[in-house]
Amino acid sequence: MPISNPSMPSVPDGLHADDLTLSAAGLLITAHTTAAQATCPRCGQSSTRIHSAYWRTLKDLPWHDRAVTWHLRVRRFRCGHCPGRIFAEPAAGLGLRKARRSERLAEAQTDIGMVLGGEPGALLSRRLAMPVSGDTVLRLIRRRAIASSPAPRVVGIDDWAWRRGQSYATIVCDLERRRVIDLRPGRSAAPVRDWLAAHPSVAVVSRDRAGPYAEAAHRRSGGDAGCRSPASARQCLRGTAQHRRASPIRDQGRGEPLHARAFSPS
Ligand SMILES: [Zn+2]
Repeated sequence: MPISNPSMPSVPDGLHADDLTLSAAGLLITAHTTAAQATCPRCGQSSTRIHSAYWRTLKDLPWHDRAVTWHLRVRRFRCGHCPGRIFAEPAAGLGLRKARRSERLAEAQTDIGMVLGGEPGALLSRRLAMPVSGDTVLRLIRRRAIASSPAPRVVGIDDWAWRRGQSYATIVCDLERRRVIDLRPGRSAAPVRDWLAAHPSVAVVSRDRAGPYAEAAHRRSGGDAGCRSPASARQCLRGTAQHRRASPIRDQGRGEPLHARAFSPS
């Protein structure tokens, strides 16, 4: 039902709320951005040349006991410096370009997850009108852990058995700080390739001599390069596993040496 004179929830600068609709599902805020220009994420130059517009949906902090959803009209701009470049403006004060929840909601749900863990955190978050799944809470926790960690330079990549013979994962370890920094489902080349592409700081990868990880690292490095401390990766991964005995992760322990390659600058 439309609200004629509501006590408004917090509306970030740069947004204008056009309509509020309250229902059993929560409060829906229809809004649009108001900035006269946007900054191209590639070249950093401002543009006022609007190309088109589209609607985004974002979850936000609750308003009283109601879940809040933004239905937000954002614009695409044409960059005057990058030929043919069209980019979307950010949702001012709410989140990144492709985020489906506001940063302030993500912060709150991460805080809850850091204290309670995945499913219990999701349960409490739902009780507080911030519906979320346990898997998402875990993903938010991992994102904060990665964001607060220094950029990795030397990593070890190996496969691990969640359940031997049935379920496998790929573990990525920062060999300089001797800590696990990521877990990926499966043990194929594609996730490792994507992970390496997202972490340009990585200069050295320790891994098996052959197999999917070798393929992923080979593509990232653009070819063979020098070897470095080939035994250190498995020692680190085993050491980390011993420190994390409560974890269900187990080392496959095939025993063959790992092969380290130094990447060419990319
Ligand atoms: Zn540009």
